[in-house]
Amino acid sequence: MRPAKPNPRDFQTRLRAAYPDAKCALDHADPFQLVVATILSAQCTDARVNLTTPALFARFPDAASLAAARVEDVEALIRSTGFYHNKARNLIGLGQALLARHSGEVPADPAALGALPGVGQKTANVVLANAFGVPALAVDTHIFRVARRLGLSKANTPEKVEADLCRAFPREDWIELHHQLIFHGRRTCDARRPDCAGCPVLGLCPTGLGTIKDPHLGVKLAAVTPAPRPSPSAAEALAPGQLVPQRIISLVPSVTELLVQWGLAARLAGRSRYCIEPRWIRNTVPAVGGTKDPDLGRIRDLAPDLVIMEKDENPKAVADALDAFGIPWLALEIHTVQDCVAALRLLGARLGLPEAAEARAAALEGRLKGRRRKGPRALALIWASPWMSSGPDTYVGDLLRRGGLTPIGPDRYPVLSEADLEALAPEVILLPTEPYRFNRRHQAALQKRFPEARIELVDGQALTWYLSRTEQGLDLVRDLVSR
Ligand code: SF4
Repeated sequence: MRPAKPNPRDFQTRLRAAYPDAKCALDHADPFQLVVATILSAQCTDARVNLTTPALFARFPDAASLAAARVEDVEALIRSTGFYHNKARNLIGLGQALLARHSGEVPADPAALGALPGVGQKTANVVLANAFGVPALAVDTHIFRVARRLGLSKANTPEKVEADLCRAFPREDWIELHHQLIFHGRRTCDARRPDCAGCPVLGLCPTGLGTIKDPHLGVKLAAVTPAPRPSPSAAEALAPGQLVPQRIISLVPSVTELLVQWGLAARLAGRSRYCIEPRWIRNTVPAVGGTKDPDLGRIRDLAPDLVIMEKDENPKAVADALDAFGIPWLALEIHTVQDCVAALRLLGARLGLPEAAEARAAALEGRLKGRRRKGPRALALIWASPWMSSGPDTYVGDLLRRGGLTPIGPDRYPVLSEADLEALAPEVILLPTEPYRFNRRHQAALQKRFPEARIELVDGQALTWYLSRTEQGLDLVRDLVSR
């Protein structure tokens, strides 16, 4: 049976619930940084670009410095993004053109932007939308594939698909839709193995329902019957008469970020001082001390109707004190990626958002299906002096396993001597940018000691922030394994 012509609003409601974190994945502070990062992202992952740009922008912070750069200096900084000879020439040309034609500023005019070295129409659209808020819907490889599978376009060029999408969706939704479709293509609607069973828009997709051939693979996919959305179990649901919490204090940084992604910022009454994302909550939500030692008096004064904690991070004494105050609390326990699926559902049920939580949980669960390979032996360091790692029985260990690496280490969070490090003989060493600030100096030193190993500097929040960034963490590890 052919699905009814989908309503664009229906699509977006589902995509919004499944990918509340959908946004430009390239780190940037201004239009100049965005245009540079977008040029670097050609044939390269956004995660890799984000690891490259901090050093590049520290050395060449604006058009003038880039215009005067030596090509070999730029090449040395962007080598890992691929095609670095061309990209370096384009970046220097970009700096020179910005200086000569636009007083060093990035223009907000589509034609002027498109005429800059290294900036095609697609790059121009990305910059216009994300730096200047100009509605645009650049069609990349993910959007091209997803739009055709969903029956939103039958066209066979990105330009025509863009025109179809722009006709179907209101102009004010283009920027958001652009990010949602890219996230959907990356996380669910994979080019070779789309996860139709876990897809949040399966009921609207003629390809997933098996009514048309997959326009991307050229074959009919096995039809999937949409499963009824499970309702929260009796244990998870709010007890009869219990009200949905309106004054929440979160002591877990990634949970705080998740609540904001779910549109619950207005219900946040407090946060631990490590809850720093998104950045603006530092100014709008009061801090109540640290993770191990929150200010209990301050918490009591804020009169929350729920405090959210995590068992590994927050001591039991905090829960005991809250009990004494009569303040309700919820302690999550996250040791695996699968625990995140359960925690999403639990939070959704407790916070009165079961549908948004279920869409996100189902999409994440879908990404965990399939056979796991036993990949290279990987050590995720989390501290130096002394060395500490995140072992196989931790969330990070499981994320590595799910992503195709084999986590190694003796304990959950062992302290490792120099001899332990040698004895573990890792094939891959991950150096996250937090909680310890590993940097290129650590990377170079370890590379000398382990010349055969891959030493990778990785985004610490993507690797360690469960729930709000689990999907990003999976992307990071899988991307690393595929390179
Ligand atoms: S149902 Fe399958 S083909 Fe359709 S959008 Fe979802 S993952 Fe892609």
